[in-house]
Amino acid sequence: MTAIPAIREIPARGRNTYDPAVVRADFPILSRTVYNKPLRFLDNGASAQKPQSVLDALQNSYASEYANVHRGAHFLSGAATEAYEGVREKAAGLLNAPGPDNIVFTKNVTESINLVACSWADAHLSAGDEIVITEMEHHANIVPWQLLRDRKGIVLKIAPVEDDGSFVLERFAALLTEGTKLVSVTHVSNVLGTAVPVAEVTRLAKDAGACVLIDGAQGVVHQPVDVQAIGCDFYAFTGHKLYGPTGVGILYGRTDRLAEMPPWQGGGDMIDTVSFEKTVYADPPMRFEAGTPPFVQAIGLGAAIDYVQALGMDAIGAHEHALCAHAMETLRDVPGVRPVGEAPDKAAIVSFVVDGLHSLDVGAILDRQGVAVRVGHHCAQPLMARMGIESTVRASMALYNTTEEIDALAAGIRHAQKLLG
Ligand code: PLP
Repeated sequence: MTAIPAIREIPARGRNTYDPAVVRADFPILSRTVYNKPLRFLDNGASAQKPQSVLDALQNSYASEYANVHRGAHFLSGAATEAYEGVREKAAGLLNAPGPDNIVFTKNVTESINLVACSWADAHLSAGDEIVITEMEHHANIVPWQLLRDRKGIVLKIAPVEDDGSFVLERFAALLTEGTKLVSVTHVSNVLGTAVPVAEVTRLAKDAGACVLIDGAQGVVHQPVDVQAIGCDFYAFTGHKLYGPTGVGILYGRTDRLAEMPPWQGGGDMIDTVSFEKTVYADPPMRFEAGTPPFVQAIGLGAAIDYVQALGMDAIGAHEHALCAHAMETLRDVPGVRPVGEAPDKAAIVSFVVDGLHSLDVGAILDRQGVAVRVGHHCAQPLMARMGIESTVRASMALYNTTEEIDALAAGIRHAQKLLG
């Protein structure tokens, strides 16, 4: 087994300046080439790359500490259980949740949202009750509510976004009524980069008596998150976008909300006692974790949380903010490039269209330059319709990206214009 470069060895910590060159050395994949070009990975909104410490944690878990959790009366099961349960503490720390019992493991943010829809919302909402979402939601924060609407006759209301991608609080507030039982909004739009003022949204929703869920898939990766300061009932995110492995997600739930939720899946691990007559369910969070959980993935996520916390979410946010400003400025200088999403409060996600060219073609030519971006509707088809477009090219930045990579993106677009124009 390779030696584990412990998180305390990350050199950027404690420095006055954030050095992406040092950070990049922690990510083995970033030194590879594609088509004989250096890889410029700007598709982090889809999934981020993994630092060596996460890869080592996965390897170590399988190679040295592997046994099923919560079950065995033996050393390895105890070690795996301790490591897995320890990640609840780490996730609680990342979100400033009161404690580990507020953290439910899921397989991704999509499952976290479906859990709330199938458990809390199914039990507490009835025909005519209203749910408010926004025009910029990912399908993961639309379809679960449509399923509930179709099952129970709930009304789905959509808060608008402005032409520049801004979210106007007053327009959202105008949708709230006595019938609003749930507000479910993204923290950061995965297409526009717009940062929703979630604390204000929560305050307004609470004044209207509604429960609040925040889809933090793109929020938790770009900035510090404090669920108690926000005041939300639920906050959901996905491990693989936070430099962790695939297959693990988090649902934060306020203690009283989790307590009032029925199970949504049945099986082992989520029970206290079972007889053929009656099952007594475990307390939260175990009540919501039926079957063998993705404990190795969770352990990998724990290493990812250690990693970002060692760098500091504030430092990561500041670095990405500067990258985003550079990207917006650079792309505005390329004739024919039109940014989609120019809200003043914006995370490092930059979508754009190129006049006269299809996004797919632009993406394919960028790929040949070693620049990895995402093209398409980004699982946000209603937002595409709202913006009057079918697709965008999206560059989504991470803690290891550099201004040189943004410049390579701009050069790649000019190259595409020359080839296809
Ligand atoms: N919500 C947002 C805002 C996203 O950006 C994504 C993924 O792109 C998701 C939800 C779904 O994430 P996952 O597929 O990991 O559940």
